[in-house]
Amino acid sequence: MANIMRVAEHQNQRKTATRSRHIDVALAGNPNSGKTTIFNNLTGARQHVGNYPGVTVEKKTGTCEHHGIKMSVVDLPGTYSLTAHSGEEMVARDYIINERPDVVVVILDASNLERNLYLATQLMEMNVRLVLALNMSDVAAARGIKFDLGLLSQLLGAPVVPTVGHRNEGTSELLHAIVSAATNEQPEHVSVSYGKELEDEIGRISDLITTSGTPLGQYPPRWLAIKLLESDQDVRKKVGSEEILGAVEQTAERLEKLFGHPLEVIIAGQRYGFISGACTEAVRSTVEARHTASDQIDAVVTNRVGGLPIFFGLMYLVFHLTFTLGDPPMGWLESLFGWLGKVIDSWWSPGSESALRSLLIDGVIGGVGGVIVFLPNILLLFVAITILEDSGYMARAAFIMDRFMHKIGLHGKSFIPMLIGFGCSVPAIMATRTIENRKDRLTTMLVVPLMSCGARLPIYALIIPAFFPHSWHGPMLWTIYVIGIILAVCSAKLLKLTLLKGQAPPFVMELPPYRLPTLKGTLIHTWERAWLYLRKAGTIILGISIILWALTNYPKKTDFGRVYSAEIAAAESAYESDPETLAAKMDEIEQAMQAEELAYTMAGRIGHAIEPLLRPMGFDWKIGTALIGAFAAKEVFVAQMGIVYAVGEADEESDPLRERLHESYTPLQAFCIMLFCLVSAPCMATVAVTKRESGSWKWALFQLGGLTTLAYVLTTVVYQVGSVFTAGAG
Ligand code: GDP
Ligand code: MG
Repeated sequence: MANIMRVAEHQNQRKTATRSRHIDVALAGNPNSGKTTIFNNLTGARQHVGNYPGVTVEKKTGTCEHHGIKMSVVDLPGTYSLTAHSGEEMVARDYIINERPDVVVVILDASNLERNLYLATQLMEMNVRLVLALNMSDVAAARGIKFDLGLLSQLLGAPVVPTVGHRNEGTSELLHAIVSAATNEQPEHVSVSYGKELEDEIGRISDLITTSGTPLGQYPPRWLAIKLLESDQDVRKKVGSEEILGAVEQTAERLEKLFGHPLEVIIAGQRYGFISGACTEAVRSTVEARHTASDQIDAVVTNRVGGLPIFFGLMYLVFHLTFTLGDPPMGWLESLFGWLGKVIDSWWSPGSESALRSLLIDGVIGGVGGVIVFLPNILLLFVAITILEDSGYMARAAFIMDRFMHKIGLHGKSFIPMLIGFGCSVPAIMATRTIENRKDRLTTMLVVPLMSCGARLPIYALIIPAFFPHSWHGPMLWTIYVIGIILAVCSAKLLKLTLLKGQAPPFVMELPPYRLPTLKGTLIHTWERAWLYLRKAGTIILGISIILWALTNYPKKTDFGRVYSAEIAAAESAYESDPETLAAKMDEIEQAMQAEELAYTMAGRIGHAIEPLLRPMGFDWKIGTALIGAFAAKEVFVAQMGIVYAVGEADEESDPLRERLHESYTPLQAFCIMLFCLVSAPCMATVAVTKRESGSWKWALFQLGGLTTLAYVLTTVVYQVGSVFTAGAG
């Protein structure tokens, strides 16, 4: 090996001198792909046969000319891959790395493209200029296989030239492609992405290699890192460094437990996933030629007709299971927090006034508890999404939505975050990490809050039954969700046409092989997501809850408009014999007092102050205070309306609150409340996560301001136009 490398160095020096006049071309390809035939077409009689230095593998070289540009061509040994498993593969890859040919032409058997492209994916990692020859295109055509050459070339990041070797067809086109590949700027470099876990490690190991100063100059660090993770013995020997090999060992052990398969298998699977995605998009077969189980499942789930219903059915199942299975543990958590509240309450003597008690029970437990109660739902949703992702199905879902998403200027990959947005915007915005293109990622992040999240459901559940006849309930809820989706689609389109303009070149939507998710992998992924949710509850929501508690409690009113103590005494003597009426009377007095207290507090005053601003939308100060709460977390709106209308413990099932609302507002106002809550400022946690994921406050504030403005304008228009119509009707 050292021998070859020394010869190579010598040749490299010689080559630099002649590079300007000469193009060095290497032909690579699977055995029997027609490599030698193409080689003969290119070089004619100008060839000679020898051995690669040091090994007894035949080396055929020759020369040719195209428009006065001279080329030397090498016919590399035929290989399926570039591992260290055979002498031929070693010779081929050492040649490419040591000789650095200007262009590597991959001869592909077009009638068996997926398998043939495997070698090409490995060559992509070696940072060489590629030209793909779709040889045997006569056989492919006879089998009814059609190629979208332009798309295929874009997806694979290399020119694609169809050839028929034994009839010498496509040879001059191939020569032309070789010359322009050698002289022109390369198209954007494309390579297989191995998924977050592996990519993190590949990045870490290639950094280690770069900084360790190991003398491996001509080997691309990323390629070395991948080869090390594939446990390539030859590369191990070359790297030699104990530090690097130790790090690789540890990583491999950890990831193999996570995936439940050797890394070699996982890496090969990702490569085939990349190929499969590219071919499903750019290759059409009129004859069914799919064989593996994975292919057969894909034939069904990525089917243009059947794919969508299957997808929506699965999603319905996920949401349904999330809510039904999540219900009992949600009840347990509610009783747990109820019990905790009682325990804390018992620390003080009954009836005594204590700000600390109120803070702990109403502020901390009410606020944070109210959010943690949703944890079972969120966990179940995350488990389901993790399983769908790890099994490989999510990649298919993104694939079938890709066509539609292109119409709004995005990729299929943006679809998954939007879907998760129906659960909660926070994990949805984190899920945008899989989108490589920054503009697409930002667009997706910005519109995700328009997908009506789970926390808004209590608002609709409170309002719809209060104002609309029973038969309207389902359609009404559906309408709200659909309005959100339509707005998200339109905003995305608008952003892509203006602020975040620029069409990213199409990239491969990988279709990785289906795999049974491992228990460990599922648990780790679910936990990562759940932890972020819990942290949100523990930090942002805790802080906001305390602030809101203070706003709705201070300043304390001491001078009341009515003398409540006298009213209580009067009621007690008047209804002494009628305990039921007495209880009702007492409730009423207490509520009136609470309402008066609230109007006096900061929240009440802010509500009053912003009332003129809210009036065009049909809102009063009471809705205003509730909207302030909704900014902390959407679900706070309901509790806050309960406080404003002083109906004691309010939740979305609260009938007294519904009655009060029904007396106070028109159905049009009710609809406007829902519309505003749907579109306006996402909750604090969403703004915070957008800041973190976009890397700047600029985008977070843009999202906040943009959505709130949109909500304001939209709600005002709906209210004003609606008022004209209802006035006309009445
Ligand atoms: P190698 O192993 O890659 O060097 O492949 P060869 O060049 O030896 O070709 C293998 C066989 O495929 C030969 O019989 C060629 O005549 C045949 N062949 C090469 N190109 C084509 C083509 O485009 N179409 C068809 N039908 N046969 C081809
Ligand atoms: Mg041959």
